[in-house]
Amino acid sequence: MTGIEVARLPSDLALRCECGHVRGVASEVSPSTGYRVLCYCKDCQAFARFLERADVLDTAGGTDIFQMPPGRVKLTAGMDAMRCLRLSNRGIYRWYTDCCRTPIGNTAGPRVPLIGLIHCFMDHEADGHSRDVVLGPPLCRIYERSAVGPLPSTPTAPPSFRVSVRRASKMFGWWMRGLARPTPFFDDSTNAPCSAPRVLTRSERAAL
Ligand SMILES: [Zn+2]
Ligand SMILES: [Zn+2]
Repeated sequence: MTGIEVARLPSDLALRCECGHVRGVASEVSPSTGYRVLCYCKDCQAFARFLERADVLDTAGGTDIFQMPPGRVKLTAGMDAMRCLRLSNRGIYRWYTDCCRTPIGNTAGPRVPLIGLIHCFMDHEADGHSRDVVLGPPLCRIYERSAVGPLPSTPTAPPSFRVSVRRASKMFGWWMRGLARPTPFFDDSTNAPCSAPRVLTRSERAAL
C-alpha cells in the first residue's frame, strides 16, 4: 500500500444514519464519478444547527458533501424516518433522518440530476477505506466567505473555471443518461417529495 490510489475503481458505498435505522447504498462511487466539495454557506450551517448536530460542520463551519446522481442512491431500510426541510419556500430540499437527526443530503428538485450526500450518512467503517480514498480529496471550497473560522489548508484553490466546466458537463451527462431517476426522495409519477417538507418561517430561519 502506497497510500496513493490513482485510479480507484467505482464501488458501492454503504449509507447509514448514526443509529442504523435508515440504511442505503450509493453505487459507482469514486473520485471521478462525483464531486466532493466543502460548503461553507450559511444555509448548510443553519441545517446543522436545526439538526443540533455540531459534528456535521468542520471547525470553519463547512459541510463535507459528495455530489453525485440520485439514480445511484438507494435507500434500503428506514424510509419511514426520512424527513425533509426547506429553510424557505424557495429553498432546496434538505433530507435528514428523524430517528437520530442524521443529515442525508441536499437536492434541488425531482428533475435535477444531483444530490449532495452529506458525510455523516456515509459508512466508511463498513468497507474499511477512508473518505479521502473512496471519494478523493475535496476539490474545492464553496461560499468560503461565510466561513466562521480559519479554513483548512487543503483544498487551497477556490472552484476554478476548469472544475466548474467539468462539473457542468458531468451533470449534463448524468441528465442525458437518465440518472436523475429513480430517486428515493421524490415520487416517480407525481414528482412530489416522498416526505412532506417542513418549511421554516422567516422567524424560525432567523433564529437558527
Ligand atoms: Zn437513525
Ligand atoms: Zn451550503
